[in-house]
Amino acid sequence: MSDQQTFSFQAEVQQLLHLMIHALYSHKEIFLRELISNGSDACDRLRFESLTDKSLLEGEAEGEPRIRITIDKDARSLRISDNGIGMTRDEVTENIGTIARSGTRRFVEALSGDAAKDANLIGQFGVGFYSAFMVAERVVLETRKAGRPAAEGVRWESDGAGEYSLADVERDEHGTAITLHLREGEDEFLEMARIRTIIAKYSDNIALPVQVPAEKEEQDDGEPDWETLNSGSALWARPRNEISDEEYNNFFANLAFDPNPPLLRLHNRVEGNFDYTALLFVPSKAPFDLFDREQRHGIKLYVRRVFIMDDTRHLMPAYLRFVRGVVDSADLPLNVSREFLQHNREIDLIRSGSVKKLLGEFARLAKDEPDQYATFWDEFGRVIKEGVVEDHDNRQAIAELLRFASTHDDAQTQRVSLKDYVGRMGDDQKSIFYLTADSHAAAQASPHLEYFRKQGIEVLLLSDPVDEWLVGHLNEYQDKPLKSVARGDLDREELGEKSDDPEREQRSKDLEPLLAAIQAALGERVQEVRLSDRLVDSPACLVADEKALGANLQRILESMGQAAPESRPILELNPEHPLIRRLDSGREDLADWAEVLFDQAALSEGAALKEPAAYVRRINRLLASTLGDEAA
Ligand code: ADP
Repeated sequence: MSDQQTFSFQAEVQQLLHLMIHALYSHKEIFLRELISNGSDACDRLRFESLTDKSLLEGEAEGEPRIRITIDKDARSLRISDNGIGMTRDEVTENIGTIARSGTRRFVEALSGDAAKDANLIGQFGVGFYSAFMVAERVVLETRKAGRPAAEGVRWESDGAGEYSLADVERDEHGTAITLHLREGEDEFLEMARIRTIIAKYSDNIALPVQVPAEKEEQDDGEPDWETLNSGSALWARPRNEISDEEYNNFFANLAFDPNPPLLRLHNRVEGNFDYTALLFVPSKAPFDLFDREQRHGIKLYVRRVFIMDDTRHLMPAYLRFVRGVVDSADLPLNVSREFLQHNREIDLIRSGSVKKLLGEFARLAKDEPDQYATFWDEFGRVIKEGVVEDHDNRQAIAELLRFASTHDDAQTQRVSLKDYVGRMGDDQKSIFYLTADSHAAAQASPHLEYFRKQGIEVLLLSDPVDEWLVGHLNEYQDKPLKSVARGDLDREELGEKSDDPEREQRSKDLEPLLAAIQAALGERVQEVRLSDRLVDSPACLVADEKALGANLQRILESMGQAAPESRPILELNPEHPLIRRLDSGREDLADWAEVLFDQAALSEGAALKEPAAYVRRINRLLASTLGDEAA
């Protein structure tokens, strides 16, 4: 070894090392990912430069780029070597041990001196080579630039504490080898099984082989056979037309642990200011925990084929949490943290781009393959509906995707689009009518529909819990307001009836005393008792006022254990019903009648009574007195 010299790290490098060791303490294993990624970059650069200068390959017979990892248990060291481009002495000085590199410099400039904040910051910049010191007390880097004579090898060595040394060495092979002399307590990294696990997790998709000595007797010449650990598939990085359906499906099966072929797949490479590839799948079956908004499996994030993290929530909104896949960005640093992703413009661009593509694909499916779309909707529709609330920017596009059950065919399956509905609307009809209920059966049987059925006006039947939120946010479609048939006042004219009907007016005058008496009997429980426009067969129904929550939403909130703000319903009576016509406001048992009408109205919406026994008692009293009348 000749010409050995000792240098000091720049002060900032030490600061960086110190911070890194503390900030990334629980993720020490990433050092291997960082070093493998550096080796892979070095091989890529050699491949690129040798396109114009074959001599750089030094007549290499195998000419195959690879990264090799060996363990020396006796020396307690781990060695990562590549046959990439290598570095000259100047390049080593420049790249390793200074903060000239822009990433590190920006990092150091951003340091605030506040340890907690700085620890957070570190995730936003590449940590790269220095991460070796998290597990190593001494690091030796030997390298030779491709195309240079063997004598121009360089040996760099440091304990990461403040100084490093440089020396010239003979080195036959071009490329770089890094030897980590492990710290006390880091012996786990001397176990090949551990190394295999780390590579499988982070580096499986690296394009070049990552090799370890095969587990068998060494050959006579001491040169081991090499076993490649990574599959290097990175399917997403290959051109679409070279990938078979079977390959895609296998990839999906491994990614999602789902043996069924996906319903949809999207494979896009986006190039421009910001390059990324997205390979996304929609499974054919919803996962069992689809409705747990916290339980996401989502998207895997890669940076240049290096695995960065699972379940990257920032890449997909919650209402598309069933989408599985991979995003590979060319431009993000390797060591991005979840916090970083939250505020990153590129991540935002990838997300909005992917969402647009997915929504477009769903729309295409709806148009071209209605049967497939029906399957899709049955599996994921209830989650897609959340998008109306969550994704304001795409609300219109999502509205086109919605499907509902409807009185048009009274089927339970959700097949009616808002467009279908609007296409069937009559000339006078201004609104899109809907009814929310606990269940499809309750919706179908609701007294609120009676008048609409009689007039032949279609009503959408909404019985998914999310529907209440949906209609709370989707106020209109194609300039037509969405209107609940169980709320507020109905516009009779819109429903195809003349507004002033003298006979009707007289009847309501006659019924005024009855309304007042029932109101008095029910007291605080009702906001108002009035005559109804929406009933045909039933004597009574409950209506929410325009601003109130509505009975169904109130039930949902209560079932979730949330305190629903008290809102009093309006009791509407059907002036045509014999019961109402014959009921005399002066009756002694009017209180019982009022209570029964009120409870019945609640029952007919599918609500549970607070005091069912009291209801039964009252009914029996009324029945008994009817029998008594007959007997008399
Ligand atoms: P980054 O890889 O994010 O640039 P590093 O600290 O890991 O940061 O590496 C600094 C620089 O050192 C690299 O940009 C590269 O120029 C050089 N380098 C690191 N490892 C290797 C290697 N195995 N072969 C050739 N050059 C390397």
